[in-house]
Amino acid sequence: STQEIRCIGCGAEIQSEDPKKLGYAPPSSVQKDEVICKRCFRLKNYNEIQDVELTDDDFIRILNGIGSTDALVVKVVDIFDFSGSWLNGLHRFVGNNKVLLVGNKADLIPKSVKKNKLIQWMRSMANDWGLHAVDVHLISASNGLGLDVLAASIEHHREGKDVYVVGCTNVGKSTFINAMIKKYSEENKNVITTSHFPGTTLDLIQIPLDDHSDLIDTPGIINHHQMAHFVDGKGLKMITPKKEIKPMVFQLNEGQTLFFGGLGRFDYVSGGRRAFTCHFSNELNIHRTKLENADSLYERQAGEILVPPFGEQAKELPALVKHEYTIKEPKIDVVFSGLGWVTVNEPGAKIVAHVPKGVGVTIRKSLI
Ligand code: GDP
Repeated sequence: STQEIRCIGCGAEIQSEDPKKLGYAPPSSVQKDEVICKRCFRLKNYNEIQDVELTDDDFIRILNGIGSTDALVVKVVDIFDFSGSWLNGLHRFVGNNKVLLVGNKADLIPKSVKKNKLIQWMRSMANDWGLHAVDVHLISASNGLGLDVLAASIEHHREGKDVYVVGCTNVGKSTFINAMIKKYSEENKNVITTSHFPGTTLDLIQIPLDDHSDLIDTPGIINHHQMAHFVDGKGLKMITPKKEIKPMVFQLNEGQTLFFGGLGRFDYVSGGRRAFTCHFSNELNIHRTKLENADSLYERQAGEILVPPFGEQAKELPALVKHEYTIKEPKIDVVFSGLGWVTVNEPGAKIVAHVPKGVGVTIRKSLI
């Protein structure tokens, strides 16, 4: 029988199958007397954290734990995947603790977008979903935009308490934490520590803020409704913008359809010839066709012309679900969570947005 080996850092059971899962160590290192998982290794040697996937049970335990401590909660979401990265029900777990909402990846937003409108939208969505955030920030963890202002706001709202950072995978939480580690370790020359979280197999990473309190990273939870989970690495690269997105204008006649790879579809049903502005990753292929041909095109070409997802993966994609809208106001964004959005410039258009079952579509006042 194989003996269970545990990481000397965090105590997680060592495995060599899945680098994204808890306790991963490369097969070569498992032979040693004392095994340290890759995550703890990187933390110890490079002061760098890596995200691990977490079981839902552990996540619930951590959230419940946060609810019973006195702390500020910083919730990180991806502004390109607002509903997909939302973490439903967080506000019910955090008890009376204040929540500060952070939208990451602001560097991808085109210059024409008004940042304060985006913040307003985040705030009103949060309110609709039952979260009353004490403050809302827009940042770029990768280029540092907004981090100083955010740090000052955290300092103000934490009132001397600990800070827990929560978010689901792929929102850029690791990038954010690594930026904070850099910032705080330069300022205080303090060491990063870990502490065992009761009831879980996990050690959480703690960055000292002062002598009495820490900023604590919680592992990213997987949200199975995220568009990102329906594609492989190659597909994810195509749908994830790497730099500021360039809006693309399409002049459409009634009865025309746009496919966003094989992951989203926009039908222009009626309203006369008009312009639609698409905001998607510059690498994602937008395919135009006639509405009457769209169903059969998708059936034949999902995974072939309409990619991502590629090939056989397209068959595993949940069926596309329709969301119908009659746009009554000028300048409305139809948001495909995890992909991007289409700006409908004038009122009076009847449109249908299709996304895989479980993925969110939302409508907002245009950010431009
Ligand atoms: P985590 O799973 O939440 O820890 O996310 P990561 O930090 O691993 O980031 C997920 C992906 O988003 C990676 O491809 C990052 O390069 C990217 N990313 C993270 N922060 C930013 C950001 O501020 N801007 C952009 N454009 N990409 C980001």
